[in-house]
Amino acid sequence: MRITQLRATPVAVPFNEDEVWAFGRRRGMVSIVLEIVTDDGVIGLGEAAAYPSADIVLSVFGSIEPLVVGEDPFNIERIMKRINVIGTWHHVKATSPAIAAVEMACWDIVGKVSGQPLVNLFGGRVRDEVEFFYYLSHKSPKDMGADAAAGFKAGFRTFYVKTGSDNPNLDIERVEAIRAAAGPDALIRIDPNEAWSSSAAIRIITEMERFGLELVEQPVSGRNLAEMAYVRSRINTPLLANEASWTRYDQLEVIKAGAADVVSVDNQMDGGLLNLKRGAGLCEVAGLPVLKHSLGELGIAAYAGVHIMASTPNFLYANQGYGSFLSDDIIKDASPLPYRDGRLAVPTKPGIGVELDTERVAKYADLYKQEAKNFAFHESDKIASTPLMPKF
Ligand SMILES: [Mg+2]
Repeated sequence: MRITQLRATPVAVPFNEDEVWAFGRRRGMVSIVLEIVTDDGVIGLGEAAAYPSADIVLSVFGSIEPLVVGEDPFNIERIMKRINVIGTWHHVKATSPAIAAVEMACWDIVGKVSGQPLVNLFGGRVRDEVEFFYYLSHKSPKDMGADAAAGFKAGFRTFYVKTGSDNPNLDIERVEAIRAAAGPDALIRIDPNEAWSSSAAIRIITEMERFGLELVEQPVSGRNLAEMAYVRSRINTPLLANEASWTRYDQLEVIKAGAADVVSVDNQMDGGLLNLKRGAGLCEVAGLPVLKHSLGELGIAAYAGVHIMASTPNFLYANQGYGSFLSDDIIKDASPLPYRDGRLAVPTKPGIGVELDTERVAKYADLYKQEAKNFAFHESDKIASTPLMPKF
C-alpha cells in the first residue's frame, strides 16, 4: 500500500459567540481537513489547526507531499523522521499542526486497514469516555456566571476562564460570580496566557483562591521556568504549564525545573498522536498528570485525541475543547459534537472512526473562501496596540 496524494481543504466554522483571550479575539475557527489518498483506495483523515495561519499549513503540506508520496502509510515512525530530518522541519514548532495532520491521517489508514479503532492500537481503553471543559466566553462577571450555570446544568463540571485581557480586579469578580452562580461543585480553571508578572500573579491568584480554583494555567511567561517555579511555590492552587510545554523537549525542562503540577500536551503542537502519548508518558514517569491542550478542533482532530486520552492513564483533568463555542462540525452525526455530561464517547469504528459530511465540508469551505480574514485571531484595535508581556 502506497500514499499517492495529499488533499487539503480549509474550512471555516462559525462560533456561537466570539472567543476572547489576553491578546485577541476570533468569531470562528479555521481548520484544514487533510485527506491522504492511497493506491488501495483507502483514504485517511487528518486535521490541522490554522496555526499560525491556514496559508502556512497549506504551504507545509506542499513541502511535505514529495516526502510522503510513495511511502507505506504504516511506516509512521519512518515517515515522521523523514519529514523532520530530511525535510528539515525538526526545529519549527509553529508548523507542527500540518505535520501532525499527516501523522493523524496515517493512523486513520492503519486503523481502517486493521479494522480497529485507534484506542485499541494505542494501549486499549482505560476509560470509555473522555471529559472536556466548558469554555466560558469573555463577558461581564454577571453574564459569565449565568453562562457557567447553564454549562453546569448541561453536565459540564470544569469551567475555563480566559483572564488577563482587562483589569485584574474584574477577573477576580468574574471568578466570584461564576462560583456564586455555578455552585460549590463547579471546578474553575483560569488562564491568563502569560499576561501577568509574578507579583501580579501571586496577588490576583491569592485573592481568587477565596472562591476556589481548580488550576491556574500559565499565569506568567512560559519562557522563564524559574519564575513559574517561584509562583508555584507561593500559591495554593496547582499550576498548569501550557506555553512552557508545547513539545516533549519543553515538557522535560518543565519537569526538571519543578515548574508545574500539571502539564498540557498537544499532538498538534508536537507533531502527532504518537508524540502526545510519549509526552504523557514522560510526565507519568515524573508523577505528573496531563491534559490535552487544543488550538481549536473539529470532529476529526477532536476524536483523534479522544483515542489517546482514553488509552493513557494520566489524563486526569478535563481536557480542552471548543464544545461551548462551535455552532457546527464537518463530520457525520455531529452538529456540533455530541457531548454528554461534558464527555465524548470513544468511537468504536475503525481508525479515528469518523466520516466527512461532504455537504457541510463544501459549505464551510465556501465560507473560508469568502470570509477567511474574518476568522483570524486578530482585532484591528489589538493589532495597533503594543502587546505588553507581562501586561499587568
Ligand atoms: Mg492556555
